Amino acid sequence: MLTKDLAICIRALDYSETSQIVTFFTRATGKISAIAKGSKRPKSAFDGTIEIFSFGKIVFSDSNKEKLATLTEFEQQPGFTHLRSNLFALNCCLFGTELLSGLTNEYDPHPELFDNFLQFLQNANERRATNDERRVTLSLLILFQLALLKEVGLQPILSYCVNCKTRYEIRATRDEVYFSSSANGLICKDCEASFPDKIRLTGNAANCLTNLKMIAESEEKTLNEIEKVLIYHFTELLHKPPKMAKHILGT
Ligand SMILES: [Zn+2]
Repeated sequence: MLTKDLAICIRALDYSETSQIVTFFTRATGKISAIAKGSKRPKSAFDGTIEIFSFGKIVFSDSNKEKLATLTEFEQQPGFTHLRSNLFALNCCLFGTELLSGLTNEYDPHPELFDNFLQFLQNANERRATNDERRVTLSLLILFQLALLKEVGLQPILSYCVNCKTRYEIRATRDEVYFSSSANGLICKDCEASFPDKIRLTGNAANCLTNLKMIAESEEKTLNEIEKVLIYHFTELLHKPPKMAKHILGT
């Protein structure tokens, strides 16, 4: 059976001199792995060699989900070419891709996550390597990471204390607030002793997490702090540090 879908390549490996094994995140089918026979030949049905972030309409056969699908067509659209000249934006996209791949299963569709991912790549691609652009790109990554958690059913609780349910806004801003990965959200000062795994948040970071609209305008220092918390959280969720994490905060 042939299936048509819209797809973004999230991994491409050489299989032979002329063929590749590619993993796509598709809009209607979710993540799939496929063999692209002859994709490295000058003339193929795939508009050239397939690379990470190659994007467009694909046709594939998936007669048996236990095995690799076979890619039969790939109509590539103009790619995210600016990423090649903006290392930080590229690293953010690679990091987002690693997390997306780690938190989704094959043949488990998430159309809204697909739209979000595509938008994230497009926005990051439009960034230029200047000082303020690092801040803006980091804010894009954080918003994508939070969207990813929501779409895979792991949305953290950020408006009240997970344990006692006290809403964050009614507490004094000087109050201590923590993020705990095992609690999957914010923990107040009265409850923090019961949660050994936690990171204390500054008021600015806590405000941003409870009101995500503030993220786009936040200063880089606050965004770095939030990203550090998210890296800790994703490390817990994936049971290992994500490979690309060290390229984001430079630690
Ligand atoms: Zn509490």
